[in-house]
Amino acid sequence: MECTIDINKLLFLQKLISLDCSHLAKHVFLYRLAEHIMLADTDINMRGFLPEVVCILRKYGLVETLENYCLRAEFPRKETWKRIVKHTTGSEQSDLYKEGLIEKGADRVVRVHSHLQPFSLYSVARRNPLYKHQILRLVKLLTIPVSLACCPLCYKISSDMVQHVLVYCEMLSGVRNQMWDELTDLLGVRYARILFKKTDAEVTVIFLGGLWELDGEPDLLATRDLFRCCVANTFHQIFQILKDYS
Ligand SMILES: [Zn+2]
Repeated sequence: MECTIDINKLLFLQKLISLDCSHLAKHVFLYRLAEHIMLADTDINMRGFLPEVVCILRKYGLVETLENYCLRAEFPRKETWKRIVKHTTGSEQSDLYKEGLIEKGADRVVRVHSHLQPFSLYSVARRNPLYKHQILRLVKLLTIPVSLACCPLCYKISSDMVQHVLVYCEMLSGVRNQMWDELTDLLGVRYARILFKKTDAEVTVIFLGGLWELDGEPDLLATRDLFRCCVANTFHQIFQILKDYS
């Protein structure tokens, strides 16, 4: 929310600057800008749009653009400014998002979904409503913190129980092998080979919704969805097995 307000104020700044000097709003802006410069080294605090937008420019490391405008009367055009604002505020929010998740112990979420785009599994669930419950289970697995625990099926101690059931647990190898057979048929030689070459940690991240090479193929949307639904279906079965044992 705060970011949206910042973006709107920054875009409004560009709009004011690009106004013709015959507009009253431009006169007021230039007067306030001159006032801001003159009062910069004093203890007098200004209020209103200008000091607010200067704070926002500082926050995102964009204050030089206003300084450049004051010195050379140059400021980015509308489309360029939009791109700059989107990029800088986006990366700032992305850093805050990651820091917030790490603080909450959700390191796995950061590894799987480290950017502020809609989560891959959310889009798959919308396109494949018949699988939404299975996909929801997968998302719940993603939110389980990485911690030491004893597997209720094979009684082995693991430092990461989610990865254990997704990749290692011998008691679940039958269900997983069936999934690997289905995935191999579905992906074809090229992408099956890419997936087989991944480490166990990387495969865990992909299974939980992390993007990989296949997601860069817009022409293979149906295959990508089938891949996610197959994985979600398998781990839904695993969840049921775990539930029956507990
Ligand atoms: Zn186990």
